Amino acid sequence: MTKADLFRMLLVAADMPGSLFDHSEVSRWPTGALDDLLRSHLVRPAQTGLTAPCPHCDDGHVESVTVVAPSDDTEKPRCFISCPESLKVEVTEAMCRGWSVDLDGLAVTLASALAVSTPKPVVPGRFWRLGRMQLRDTTREVVFAARLADDDAEALMRHIGTGGRAVVFVPHRVPDPGRWPGRAPAVIAMHDVAAMADDNVVLDPQAVIEAIDAADRLAEQAGGVSLDARGKKLVRAQVKAELKGHLTDDILVAAYQEHNSIDKAAEALSEQMETKVSRDKVWRAVKRAEEAGVLARTDDSGSVSRSVASQRCDRGKKMDQYRN
Ligand SMILES: [Zn+2]
Repeated sequence: MTKADLFRMLLVAADMPGSLFDHSEVSRWPTGALDDLLRSHLVRPAQTGLTAPCPHCDDGHVESVTVVAPSDDTEKPRCFISCPESLKVEVTEAMCRGWSVDLDGLAVTLASALAVSTPKPVVPGRFWRLGRMQLRDTTREVVFAARLADDDAEALMRHIGTGGRAVVFVPHRVPDPGRWPGRAPAVIAMHDVAAMADDNVVLDPQAVIEAIDAADRLAEQAGGVSLDARGKKLVRAQVKAELKGHLTDDILVAAYQEHNSIDKAAEALSEQMETKVSRDKVWRAVKRAEEAGVLARTDDSGSVSRSVASQRCDRGKKMDQYRN
């Protein structure tokens, strides 16, 4: 493994939650690489509980460490792990350590390669603002974000405007463009454009510019489409706001009347509200309406007559309008 390979591996690890390099992994790195990476702030000691990989077994199973206090002051504490093969195995203190990617350091490295300002953390460990970079005769806002493909990434994405003009650098994983709240900005994986050469991280400027241009073209082409999608989202949000906390009997009964089925009403409401509306909830509302005389009772409990107060019909119409 060369240092360039190692750097690419760090970028992959940077986008995985909780990734950690233990003693057995680090011992396979090129000689001096760990010290170099620590010095350049690309890795840092991980904050973990005391664990160590077994030095005797090929699978290097990782066990928690028992520290045995010395019998007198002249000795150092000794560390042991348990092993199914060798039972009790002494490990060195160095073996108990772990290392992780230093994301703050990676942000600084990126900023320096782009010749932009010192990163300002917005969400610690996840999102940094890097000021503006020069692009031809204009400038673009630059940010760095880690684990932008994780489930919680929308919260990070909201720190970027919806205009799609920002340039977002990520270590490795590029999120689905559909997840951005507005137009998708240019998202550039450092894995694609950065390399380590002579202990320096360098960017391929041509690749960076091409990536930005490609994203701009895509945003322009998809302009109409993405607005449509946003429009739909907006209508759904209105329906949600309208219904949120107001899932009254009116609405439940209106849905029931429209679909003439408890199951279908529950299904349709669940879809509209983007949350589970139980069949039981609809059923109880229908029963209450019947008891109140608002909804005509029928012999067959599975079907209810359509004769209802006009006010209820208005409610039903309102929902129909939103649906289309
Ligand atoms: Zn073992």
